[in-house]
Amino acid sequence: LRNEADIAIVGAGPAGSSCAAQLAAHGYDTLLIDQYDFPREKPCGDGLSPQAVATLGQLGLDVFLEKTQRIDGCRVILDHRRERLGRFRANTCGRCVPRAFLDQAVLNMALRNGARFVKARARSSGEADDGPFVAIESGDGARRITAKRLVASDGATSTMRRSAGLGSPGHSVRAWAIRSYYNTERSLDELFEIYLPLEVRGTTLVGYGWVFPLGEHLANIGVGYLRTPGVGHLPRLTDALNTFVDELRLRAHHRYGDIESLGRPTGAPIGLNFNTKSCNAGNMLLVGDAAGMTDSFTGEGIAPALEAGLAAARCIRGSLARRSSLARYGQELARRMPRAGQDFSILARVTSRPSSNERLAYDHLKGLHYLASVFSIASDRDPRPAAGTTAVASLLLDKERQTKDWATSLEDHLLDAIRTTIPLATPVIAREIRSHGGPVYAAILLLTGRACGKVAEDDIFAGAQAVEYLALFPTLLSGLSNHPSSEPEKLNNALAVLAADFAVSRSLLAVAKFGPKAVTSLAQIASQTCQGAMMDAVDRYDLERPVERYLAAVEHRVASVFGYASWLGAKQAGADQTTAEQIHRYGHAVGMAYQIAEDLVELDVDNSRRLLRVSVSRGIYSLPVLLAADRDRMLRQELTQGVLLSELPTLVSHINETGAVEQSRALMCEHLEAAKAIYGRTGLQRSEDLDRFVDWVSSRADVTV
Ligand SMILES: Cc1cc2nc3c(=O)[nH]c(=O)nc-3n(C[C@H](O)[C@H](O)[C@H](O)COP(=O)(O)OP(=O)(O)OC[C@H]3O[C@@H](n4cnc5c(N)ncnc54)[C@H](O)[C@@H]3O)c2cc1C
Repeated sequence: LRNEADIAIVGAGPAGSSCAAQLAAHGYDTLLIDQYDFPREKPCGDGLSPQAVATLGQLGLDVFLEKTQRIDGCRVILDHRRERLGRFRANTCGRCVPRAFLDQAVLNMALRNGARFVKARARSSGEADDGPFVAIESGDGARRITAKRLVASDGATSTMRRSAGLGSPGHSVRAWAIRSYYNTERSLDELFEIYLPLEVRGTTLVGYGWVFPLGEHLANIGVGYLRTPGVGHLPRLTDALNTFVDELRLRAHHRYGDIESLGRPTGAPIGLNFNTKSCNAGNMLLVGDAAGMTDSFTGEGIAPALEAGLAAARCIRGSLARRSSLARYGQELARRMPRAGQDFSILARVTSRPSSNERLAYDHLKGLHYLASVFSIASDRDPRPAAGTTAVASLLLDKERQTKDWATSLEDHLLDAIRTTIPLATPVIAREIRSHGGPVYAAILLLTGRACGKVAEDDIFAGAQAVEYLALFPTLLSGLSNHPSSEPEKLNNALAVLAADFAVSRSLLAVAKFGPKAVTSLAQIASQTCQGAMMDAVDRYDLERPVERYLAAVEHRVASVFGYASWLGAKQAGADQTTAEQIHRYGHAVGMAYQIAEDLVELDVDNSRRLLRVSVSRGIYSLPVLLAADRDRMLRQELTQGVLLSELPTLVSHINETGAVEQSRALMCEHLEAAKAIYGRTGLQRSEDLDRFVDWVSSRADVTV
């Protein structure tokens, strides 16, 4: 065995072998290291989804798969009483293949493509002068393998991950599963069968039991469940499996007849908690369960492991060809697999409560923000908008390399962070951020920071997350449905409160590193944003609402967050107290102007007046609407009667004729002038960035009415 290779891959499961097969096919000297000789057993349900089957097809394993058990769909059995059958789409199918055979087949493909294999246990990894290395131990002793790039695909208990200092996050969700093989008296249907709920001696577990067929009478039967933070004692895996099989014998005898055990059960942890930030370290990529890629909703890990193996191979080839870093690998994975790493514990906690038998009609649910999000997760849609340049990104773009990178990655980074912490709210949040033209609070933090000095990149990201989460707080609560009477509405509201609660706690956690003042101020601002949202809620449908009250609500809800974001930017850049306070006032004034500009955007012909109709029909009246209603009684009456889409052009010209648009614009300009005057007094050398933000806000209000 040579002690070097282009790429050393630790772990020859589906993740490692698929990666090796690709790299070897492209001519790289690829060494696969596994602690076992193959074939080897791996505790698994042996189920391959149509997606896994398709990826294995790409690897050239179609012929192998044809000889294995075909699966046509999935049957979900609820409480042994009700069941749902879903067939896979036409021309696709799943498969069930014992892992000993499957993993051997993928490994063989890698070897045929030219990869080398060695049986050895990896002990640690690191970076030496001659490059990255992995320390291994085999029958003939310990040694070091050096390589240009390393891949950690050594499963859920990854030694490589720990050795790189990427241990699992302490507060995370954990999961385990166990399976065994059984003979059934009756023949099995060619379906994945899932049993819910999973109960052991009166405790309902967040998980499920399965019966997956491997042949006419041969089944893989198992159970898997999550442990969410704060949950105490859970039953032992073998107890849970035995209870489940006993229940099948009792309550599903009509389906399987006698069930006979063929051996001892084996269980293992499942690799969850994928995070874009912890799937690479220097020259090493983490793949599959080592990167926590198993779907915590379904427990499916083979398809993500294969996908990630191929993505890692592409990323390594790119980085070797261009001598570039592997830093974007995590984001690439998050985009390809939007469900990876999502923390479903919120959903699990809420849905594990008993609910009524009410039927969940899609039409009803899609109007509820949070349940619509659950649908988008369940149907595997990426809730994030397609990548593209937003208004905020173009505001940040300039000649400086660092800012340019920032502008292009800011939104991506934020949405990645958000989707792994509050997945249920990601679609709501993505829509909200886009409606501002991008992460505008993060942008002002970045620009004020730059105006005051230099901010470390990690600090910018932490600050950006904190202020965006903070601004979201009232938005997330606005997803609450009024007077919930049905179960789905109550569930939606529970999720809304949880999501908002998460947003504030994440925000507080993110600023903790900037000291106690940053934390206490943030808590005060969170409470102010709530008060602002309450004022708006109380004043809904009130066309007599005094403009001063409206502006006071804007101060609470929007300007306070702008002020805080600006102050934090200044503090991060090391500004003294006086400057930071002035910058805070600058942000506050800009925030007032920003909301007025947004109010004018609602009237814009080119934009979409639908926005105006939505807010007017919900009784949310913006500044120009309130000013116009104050001046024109007829208009007030018109508004009270509701506005049709076809009447919008007339309504907007009425508003314009009262002079309300001009007056709003003038007020916005006053705030912007005040902002300029404030930072003019700071004496900062580099205030172009502050100018730029002021100009950007003003340009947003350049609307045609
Ligand atoms: C009971 C159970 C049932 C499951 N059912 C399904 C299912 O039906 N369908 C599905 O898609 N997913 C299922 N999963 C998840 C799935 O098994 C994993 O997600 C998948 O195996 C991940 O592949 P991997 O290549 O990342 O890791 P693994 O398949 O775990 O491979 C890791 C490899 O690394 C080797 N290794 C580990 N440490 C070292 C070391 N220090 N040195 C050298 N080698 C090392 C191991 O020997 C192993 O070969 C199940 C999991 C469990 C526990």
